[in-house]
Amino acid sequence: MSNTNKKNSLVYIALGSNLEDPLKQIQSAFEEIKKLPETNFLKCSSLYRSAPVGLLNQPDYINAVVEIDTTLTPLQLLNKLLKIELQHGRVRTFRNAPRTLDLDILLYDKQQLNDEKLTIPHPRMTQRAFVMYPLMEIAQHCVIPGHGKISQLITACSDQKIERLSNY
Ligand code: ADP
Ligand code: MG
Repeated sequence: MSNTNKKNSLVYIALGSNLEDPLKQIQSAFEEIKKLPETNFLKCSSLYRSAPVGLLNQPDYINAVVEIDTTLTPLQLLNKLLKIELQHGRVRTFRNAPRTLDLDILLYDKQQLNDEKLTIPHPRMTQRAFVMYPLMEIAQHCVIPGHGKISQLITACSDQKIERLSNY
Protein backbone atom coordinates (compact mmCIF):
# COMPACT_ATOMS: atom_id res chain seq x y z
CA MET A 1 0.00 0.00 0.00
CA SER A 2 1.32 3.46 -0.81
CA ASN A 3 2.28 5.76 2.01
CA THR A 4 2.53 8.89 -0.07
CA ASN A 5 -0.08 10.76 1.98
CA LYS A 6 1.37 9.89 5.33
CA LYS A 7 3.78 12.09 7.19
CA ASN A 8 7.21 10.86 8.12
CA SER A 9 8.21 11.50 11.71
CA LEU A 10 11.63 11.41 13.33
CA VAL A 11 11.49 9.25 16.43
CA TYR A 12 13.94 8.22 19.16
CA ILE A 13 13.48 4.98 21.08
CA ALA A 14 15.36 3.94 24.23
CA LEU A 15 16.24 0.28 24.74
CA GLY A 16 17.15 -1.31 28.07
CA SER A 17 17.72 -4.84 29.36
CA ASN A 18 19.19 -6.41 32.48
CA LEU A 19 18.08 -10.06 32.25
CA GLU A 20 18.91 -13.10 30.12
CA ASP A 21 21.95 -11.92 28.20
CA PRO A 22 21.19 -8.19 27.95
CA LEU A 23 23.70 -7.60 25.11
CA LYS A 24 21.92 -10.15 22.97
CA GLN A 25 18.49 -8.79 23.92
CA ILE A 26 19.46 -5.30 22.75
CA GLN A 27 21.14 -6.48 19.56
CA SER A 28 18.16 -8.59 18.53
CA ALA A 29 15.82 -5.71 19.40
CA PHE A 30 17.78 -3.56 16.89
CA GLU A 31 17.00 -6.17 14.23
CA GLU A 32 13.31 -6.24 15.16
CA ILE A 33 13.06 -2.46 15.04
CA LYS A 34 14.67 -2.61 11.56
CA LYS A 35 11.80 -4.85 10.46
CA LEU A 36 8.99 -2.55 11.64
CA PRO A 37 6.57 -1.64 8.86
CA GLU A 38 6.50 1.95 7.51
CA THR A 39 9.82 2.58 9.23
CA ASN A 40 13.40 3.37 8.25
CA PHE A 41 16.14 2.64 10.76
CA LEU A 42 18.49 5.64 10.65
CA LYS A 43 21.00 5.45 13.51
CA CYS A 44 21.85 3.58 16.64
CA SER A 45 24.01 4.68 19.54
CA SER A 46 26.78 2.64 21.09
CA LEU A 47 25.76 0.27 23.82
CA TYR A 48 26.08 1.55 27.40
CA ARG A 49 26.24 -0.20 30.75
CA SER A 50 24.40 1.54 33.60
CA ALA A 51 23.73 0.92 37.25
CA PRO A 52 20.06 0.27 38.12
CA VAL A 53 17.94 3.22 39.27
CA GLY A 54 15.16 3.02 41.86
CA LEU A 55 15.55 -0.61 42.87
CA LEU A 56 19.26 -1.04 43.42
CA ASN A 57 19.65 -4.75 44.13
CA GLN A 58 19.46 -6.02 40.54
CA PRO A 59 21.93 -6.57 37.67
CA ASP A 60 23.40 -3.67 35.65
CA TYR A 61 21.54 -2.63 32.53
CA ILE A 62 22.61 -2.47 28.91
CA ASN A 63 21.11 0.57 27.19
CA ALA A 64 21.03 2.18 23.77
CA VAL A 65 18.99 4.67 21.76
CA VAL A 66 17.92 4.37 18.12
CA GLU A 67 16.72 6.95 15.62
CA ILE A 68 14.06 5.96 13.10
CA ASP A 69 11.73 7.67 10.73
CA THR A 70 8.28 6.27 10.48
CA THR A 71 4.77 6.91 9.26
CA LEU A 72 3.32 4.88 12.14
CA THR A 73 1.37 7.04 14.57
CA PRO A 74 2.70 7.25 18.16
CA LEU A 75 0.13 4.73 19.42
CA GLN A 76 0.68 2.34 16.50
CA LEU A 77 4.40 2.47 17.22
CA LEU A 78 3.87 1.93 20.96
CA ASN A 79 1.77 -1.17 20.27
CA LYS A 80 4.44 -2.62 17.95
CA LEU A 81 7.13 -1.97 20.57
CA LEU A 82 5.05 -3.57 23.35
CA LYS A 83 4.73 -6.65 21.08
CA ILE A 84 8.49 -6.83 20.64
CA GLU A 85 8.90 -6.61 24.45
CA LEU A 86 6.52 -9.56 24.83
CA GLN A 87 8.43 -11.59 22.23
CA HIS A 88 11.46 -11.09 24.46
CA GLY A 89 9.63 -12.64 27.38
CA ARG A 90 8.99 -9.34 29.16
CA VAL A 91 6.85 -9.86 32.24
CA ARG A 92 5.53 -6.78 34.05
CA THR A 93 5.74 -7.28 37.79
CA PHE A 94 6.38 -4.04 39.64
CA ARG A 95 7.83 -0.61 38.93
CA ASN A 96 11.60 -0.58 38.24
CA ALA A 97 11.66 -4.40 38.22
CA PRO A 98 14.43 -6.12 36.23
CA ARG A 99 13.42 -6.77 32.63
CA THR A 100 14.48 -8.70 29.53
CA LEU A 101 13.63 -5.74 27.31
CA ASP A 102 12.22 -2.25 27.78
CA LEU A 103 11.42 -0.09 24.76
CA ASP A 104 10.41 3.51 25.45
CA ILE A 105 9.44 6.17 22.95
CA LEU A 106 11.50 9.21 23.91
CA LEU A 107 10.67 11.76 21.23
CA TYR A 108 8.27 11.84 18.28
CA ASP A 109 9.11 14.85 16.12
CA LYS A 110 8.44 17.90 18.29
CA GLN A 111 5.19 16.50 19.59
CA GLN A 112 4.04 16.65 23.19
CA LEU A 113 1.49 13.98 23.94
CA ASN A 114 -0.35 13.14 27.13
CA ASP A 115 -2.43 10.10 26.37
CA GLU A 116 -3.45 7.69 29.10
CA LYS A 117 -1.21 5.04 27.46
CA LEU A 118 1.54 7.24 26.12
CA THR A 119 3.40 10.32 27.29
CA ILE A 120 5.86 11.99 24.91
CA PRO A 121 8.51 13.18 25.60
CA HIS A 122 8.99 10.21 27.93
CA PRO A 123 8.31 11.76 31.36
CA ARG A 124 11.47 10.61 33.15
CA MET A 125 13.95 10.78 30.27
CA THR A 126 15.73 13.98 31.27
CA GLN A 127 16.58 12.55 34.71
CA ARG A 128 18.22 9.40 33.33
CA ALA A 129 21.86 9.26 32.23
CA PHE A 130 21.20 5.92 30.51
CA VAL A 131 18.83 7.72 28.13
CA MET A 132 20.50 11.11 27.83
CA TYR A 133 24.07 9.91 27.08
CA PRO A 134 23.16 7.57 24.19
CA LEU A 135 20.66 10.14 22.86
CA MET A 136 23.31 12.87 22.96
CA GLU A 137 25.67 10.58 21.02
CA ILE A 138 23.31 10.37 18.02
CA ALA A 139 21.32 13.61 18.38
CA GLN A 140 23.74 16.20 19.69
CA HIS A 141 21.57 19.17 18.81
CA CYS A 142 18.19 17.83 19.77
CA VAL A 143 15.69 19.84 21.75
CA ILE A 144 13.40 18.03 24.15
CA PRO A 145 9.98 19.71 23.88
CA GLY A 146 9.00 21.34 27.16
CA HIS A 147 12.52 20.88 28.60
CA GLY A 148 15.21 22.40 26.37
CA LYS A 149 18.47 21.51 24.67
CA ILE A 150 19.97 18.12 25.39
CA SER A 151 23.44 19.64 25.70
CA GLN A 152 22.25 21.74 28.67
CA LEU A 153 19.98 19.14 30.27
CA ILE A 154 22.58 16.39 30.29
CA THR A 155 24.65 18.11 32.98
CA ALA A 156 21.94 17.20 35.52
CA CYS A 157 22.74 13.47 35.03
CA SER A 158 26.50 13.70 35.37
CA ASP A 159 26.56 12.05 38.81
CA GLN A 160 25.00 8.77 37.55
CA LYS A 161 27.14 5.74 36.79
CA ILE A 162 27.23 4.91 33.09
CA GLU A 163 29.90 3.45 30.82
CA ARG A 164 30.03 3.40 27.02
CA LEU A 165 31.01 -0.03 25.73
CA SER A 166 33.60 0.81 23.11
CA ASN A 167 33.45 -2.56 21.33
CA TYR A 168 29.80 -2.33 20.35
P1 ADP B 1 8.93 1.92 32.49
O1 ADP B 1 9.48 1.92 31.09
O2 ADP B 1 8.63 3.32 33.00
O3 ADP B 1 9.73 1.13 33.45
P2 ADP B 1 6.95 0.05 31.53
O4 ADP B 1 7.93 -0.30 30.45
O5 ADP B 1 6.44 -1.05 32.39
O6 ADP B 1 7.49 1.21 32.45
O7 ADP B 1 5.76 0.78 30.78
C1 ADP B 1 4.48 0.79 31.24
C2 ADP B 1 3.58 1.59 30.28
O8 ADP B 1 4.09 2.89 30.10
C3 ADP B 1 3.45 1.09 28.86
O9 ADP B 1 2.52 0.03 28.75
C4 ADP B 1 2.95 2.33 28.13
O10 ADP B 1 1.54 2.33 27.96
C5 ADP B 1 3.31 3.46 29.10
N1 ADP B 1 4.05 4.56 28.47
C6 ADP B 1 3.75 5.87 28.68
N2 ADP B 1 4.58 6.66 27.96
C7 ADP B 1 5.42 5.84 27.28
C8 ADP B 1 6.48 6.07 26.35
N3 ADP B 1 6.85 7.31 26.01
N4 ADP B 1 7.13 4.99 25.83
C9 ADP B 1 6.76 3.73 26.19
N5 ADP B 1 5.77 3.45 27.07
C10 ADP B 1 5.08 4.48 27.61
MG1 MG C 1 8.94 1.04 29.25
